[in-house]
Amino acid sequence: MTYNPTLLDKAKRHPEKQKNPDRPAGRKPDWIRVPAPQGKTYKETMDIVRGQKLTTVCEEAGCPNIGECWQKKHATFMILGEVCTRACAFCNVATGKPDEVDKLEPLRVGVAVHQMGLKHVVVTSVDRDDLKDGGADHFAKTIQAIRMKSPETTIEILPGDFRGKMEDIDHVIKAKPDVFNHNLETVPRLYPSIRPGARYFRSLRLLERVKEIDPAIFTKSGMMVGLGETREEVGQVMDDMRAAGIDFITIGQYLQPTPKHAPVEKWWTPEEFEGLTKMAKSKGFLMVSASPLTRSSHHAGEDFERLRAARTAKAATIAAE
Ligand code: SF4
Repeated sequence: MTYNPTLLDKAKRHPEKQKNPDRPAGRKPDWIRVPAPQGKTYKETMDIVRGQKLTTVCEEAGCPNIGECWQKKHATFMILGEVCTRACAFCNVATGKPDEVDKLEPLRVGVAVHQMGLKHVVVTSVDRDDLKDGGADHFAKTIQAIRMKSPETTIEILPGDFRGKMEDIDHVIKAKPDVFNHNLETVPRLYPSIRPGARYFRSLRLLERVKEIDPAIFTKSGMMVGLGETREEVGQVMDDMRAAGIDFITIGQYLQPTPKHAPVEKWWTPEEFEGLTKMAKSKGFLMVSASPLTRSSHHAGEDFERLRAARTAKAATIAAE
């Protein structure tokens, strides 16, 4: 049987949420439905992930795009273990006391990326507030291990906020990922209930710092809608992102992993997502991806090529002025 973390051990994965009342999301609208994962390449991707004993956020988060992505040999690796020290109200990753850091994991990620022949890889992690450096050095080593085995592969990282500690953030930036992605996830008003362990302006500052240290690195940030935010609040987040120099915004519909998680307050329609796309483009992002099934790492490889092309085109326009 395929391992499905959304079905197994819910109480063990989210002990802190068991006191919450059940708030089922109800029937998903048609535009959210996706075919069941299957296919030869999907199976090959799974074999490599299992063979290298790696964790993916695709499975841990119960991502709806897993069938499409794994069939294209695109997976998002999750490093620093499977257990997170925070307990965000939207997230399906297990909460608790994490295991020791596996020092060989960076190498195994490097081997898996090579075996899969990836042109672009996304690496994320659980939050490790128990570690002195928040896992910064492990991230840097993973970037180096991928570069060593696959120098042509472009690398996108999606780390936590390192509790805002600048020396740890700088350490990761200096490992030179091609894309530094860090999600704001929601509007500031909802942080205390949805992302209680994080701070909105700390996350923004992290992304701003990337540009201060190395403006060549693309910055990217994502948010979910459907948690009770207003369109005006989403617009304000876009303005804040632009003020921090963020190149690429992603916006997707929040899906409730279990009835104990934050409820879906609204299903944004495809037309409303088109409206958000127009608004984001008008605010000057180099790239915008906004649709019900948009996820931070969805189509990340193709999007990276488009991002690079958009920067070149913008530079040419400025030079011609
Ligand atoms: S969208 Fe990202 S997390 Fe979801 S399956 Fe694709 S690569 Fe994995």
